[in-house]
Amino acid sequence: MDFRFSEKEEALRREVREFLAREITPEEQEAGFSREFSLKLGAKGWLVPTWPEEYGGLGATPMESLVLTEELVYHRAPIGVQIIGLGWVGTSLMRHGTEEQKRKHLLDMARGRSWVCTAYSEPEAGSDMAAVKCRARAHGDHYIIDGQKTFITGAHLCDYVWLAARTNLDVPKHRGISAFLVDLKTPGITIRPLVNMVGVHHFNEVFFDEVRVPRDCLIGEENQGWYMLVTALDVERSMVASPTACRRILDDLVGFATEACHKGEPLARHPVVRHRLAEMATEIEVGRMLAYRVAWMQSRGIIPNYEASIAKVYNSELEQRLANVGMQVLGLYGQLKRDSKWTSLEGRMGYAYLNAVSATIFAGTSEIQRTIVAIRGLGLPRQ
Ligand SMILES: Cc1cc2nc3c(=O)[nH]c(=O)nc-3n(C[C@H](O)[C@H](O)[C@H](O)COP(=O)(O)OP(=O)(O)OC[C@H]3O[C@@H](n4cnc5c(N)ncnc54)[C@H](O)[C@@H]3O)c2cc1C
Repeated sequence: MDFRFSEKEEALRREVREFLAREITPEEQEAGFSREFSLKLGAKGWLVPTWPEEYGGLGATPMESLVLTEELVYHRAPIGVQIIGLGWVGTSLMRHGTEEQKRKHLLDMARGRSWVCTAYSEPEAGSDMAAVKCRARAHGDHYIIDGQKTFITGAHLCDYVWLAARTNLDVPKHRGISAFLVDLKTPGITIRPLVNMVGVHHFNEVFFDEVRVPRDCLIGEENQGWYMLVTALDVERSMVASPTACRRILDDLVGFATEACHKGEPLARHPVVRHRLAEMATEIEVGRMLAYRVAWMQSRGIIPNYEASIAKVYNSELEQRLANVGMQVLGLYGQLKRDSKWTSLEGRMGYAYLNAVSATIFAGTSEIQRTIVAIRGLGLPRQ
């Protein structure tokens, strides 16, 4: 087994590092997103490297894409919002969209000119996505959409919403769902902020009240949405962001432990601190290998399935374990925010500690991931 990256991949890594050292501002890092930075990444084809060149990508391999993500995440590039849905929306559009739809959307998305959020979840349809109630009724050459979506990341910053809506009430629930790509400026759409426990406005409730959209907002066939969305999720799950973010936090903690003293001794000499940090380094390496396995499968044309769930459940729970260790190492200082004069690591540890709670919820909870591993990975019965 050869774990080395190719010369081309290493050259890409160097190029991305040099670009990031030049192009990211501290303000953009703090905000977590930036239109300007998105345009710069888009101009290089780095928002969607694996897409074909004609749609604004580079035709890059999944391993090259992994290298790019590692560098972006490690250097805290402001890619928080716009990059989330690009994978599955793009895959669905490329496979099922008409030529006109592809021309209208793909290049703008790839260049960072058009940001798209994903609206699957509803108050009574989270893990059970097939239970969506948001309704889309065909009406002449339009659809009329009514309903509520919740926890929609970045809806307040995006241009379009990728929406799962019910188009048929008379069939089993999986068979009556369709996918739409809707302009968020359409009259009848209301976006209300949901401020999370970190105190950040990151996601939203989105209400659709008699929203009239042209028929060509429907992507793929009517009532085939469920199959399209689920397949796109399987293809596009990239798992390397999480262990890379963990690696960055660990490196910061190692720096802190080396400089900070306890009773006149550097924390780094304290056996418990050393062991905890070493344990985290070991676990991060395991998480990274699980993510590499997913990318390796993609590079072989194999669609990752329970393997992606293994990586998701392990790495999201690792984020929480690491945040716990970080708070223990920093002690009470860890709770202080960036603007306190006594803060350490710019208040990032306390933020990471609270933020990590959501890691085991979004993109499929740990319970759902374990169920996938049990059924598809181990062949255990459904019930
Ligand atoms: C930070 C963040 C960002 C998000 N961004 C988006 C977004 O952009 N777009 C979007 O559409 N959604 C988004 N979500 C919503 C997310 O997808 C849902 O929160 C998630 O799918 C869980 O759904 P739920 O919250 O309704 O919980 P529920 O499905 O009600 O689950 C509640 C609990 O029951 C457990 N449970 C549910 N069903 C089962 C089962 N069959 N077996 C075992 N246990 C089960 C769950 O694991 C969980 O512990 C986001 C969520 C978060 C936290």
